Amino acid sequence: MPPSNEANQIDLFNLAEVATPTPAVDFDAIPTSAAVPIPPGTYETLEPIVTHCNQCHRCRLGETRTHAVVGRGNPKAPIMVVGEGPGQNEDETGLPFVGRAGQLLTKILESVRLGDDDIYVTNIVKCRPPGNRTPEADELAACRPYLIEQIRLVDPKIILLTGASAVRGLTGDKRGITKIRGQWIEWEGRLCMPVLHPAYLLRNPSREQGSPKWLMWQDIQLVRQKLDEIRSS
Ligand code: SF4
Repeated sequence: MPPSNEANQIDLFNLAEVATPTPAVDFDAIPTSAAVPIPPGTYETLEPIVTHCNQCHRCRLGETRTHAVVGRGNPKAPIMVVGEGPGQNEDETGLPFVGRAGQLLTKILESVRLGDDDIYVTNIVKCRPPGNRTPEADELAACRPYLIEQIRLVDPKIILLTGASAVRGLTGDKRGITKIRGQWIEWEGRLCMPVLHPAYLLRNPSREQGSPKWLMWQDIQLVRQKLDEIRSS
């Protein structure tokens, strides 16, 4: 972004500007620097986040994406699923978790009677890391404000964090996923359940006791039980 646009970019995400009722959103003025904040309350609905992410260059992943992959599902779902980042299928379609890993995730959720109405799906970074590499720390930080806004707007009861990058990107917890999966984490007053990433399960197809698939089955049942508890309380 040329320096001449920088003032506009900063104005767009200035807190005072956001507090002003319904300013027209200037989609040409996306902050290209992750140093420019996106304060909580910037967005009134999820749709402008999609538009913004598709024009966003807050990190280098914006240079190589086909589509930003922002989210799908019930915008008021009780469970938000957060993945690592878009893969090739997601980059091509703009929809999260549509490849083989996504299909497996759908089956896992359906196995405990969690369907489309119960779920909103997103990723910790909205643009595909080249070669499906792990998102880097600065990319996680640059994209995090969009996720924070999605969480505020969807207001899920439970956040399912699939894989270590999702855990690290949201909560900052750097422990390995195999150490913390299946244990509830409280983040900003919300219940988060770290689980193995479905892509990892595809590479480890065994269903033996103690296998990744078996562990996922244990963890997803905890999520189902917790949702039932919350709904009945
Ligand atoms: S990954 Fe996120 S921060 Fe980076 S360019 Fe895409 S939308 Fe912007």
